[in-house]
Amino acid sequence: MSRYRGSVCRLCRRENLKLYLKGDRCYSDKCAIDRRTYPPGQHGQRRTRVSDYGLQLREKQKVKRLYRLGEKQFRLFFHRADAGKGVTGVALLVMLERRMDNVVYRFGFANSRAQSRQMIKHSHFLVNGAKVNIPSYQMKVGDVIEIREKSKNVQVITDSVEAVVRRGMPQWLELDKDNLKGTVKAMPVREDITMPIQENQIVEFYSK
Ligand code: SF4
Repeated sequence: MSRYRGSVCRLCRRENLKLYLKGDRCYSDKCAIDRRTYPPGQHGQRRTRVSDYGLQLREKQKVKRLYRLGEKQFRLFFHRADAGKGVTGVALLVMLERRMDNVVYRFGFANSRAQSRQMIKHSHFLVNGAKVNIPSYQMKVGDVIEIREKSKNVQVITDSVEAVVRRGMPQWLELDKDNLKGTVKAMPVREDITMPIQENQIVEFYSK
């Protein structure tokens, strides 16, 4: 999978939304979107009319970038959501929320989803006592994520847990901060996803 290696702040500026891709910096006055509110690039400050297709594309790109997925992976998730029961757009968002890299980030064990993914691949976490190093692993109700004993003193983890208060903990998750252990209490529902997302536009995009 090709990986985007440019400035992640450009992605936020393109979507005109804070996607919180850079950890602590996103909450400081150094945030690029607060300083430059127009899209990046030579023509960023031009006024343009956006077509229906353009709106759908932007919505898809926004969610894809928020969860730090490549096009192929994102489309795969969409098709799985489409094949399953329920409303496709909502099912897609729920599946993305249930990804292990997202849950680790939500618990505050990592500063960003990208960092979370890297740490999972480096086997810093256990799920229900067993090593899991698959960032796309779908978390289930009752699953417990904990940090491996040898990783408990990793500075980045302890710092992130302290900072999680600022982000807030979704209701479907429960954190035992003292033991660095998090439990999935329930399945996420649409209301738990507070970012401004119009998932129906993504469904329209892929329905063409
Ligand atoms: Fe986005 Fe964070 Fe960069 Fe701000 S600092 S533009 S929220 S990645």
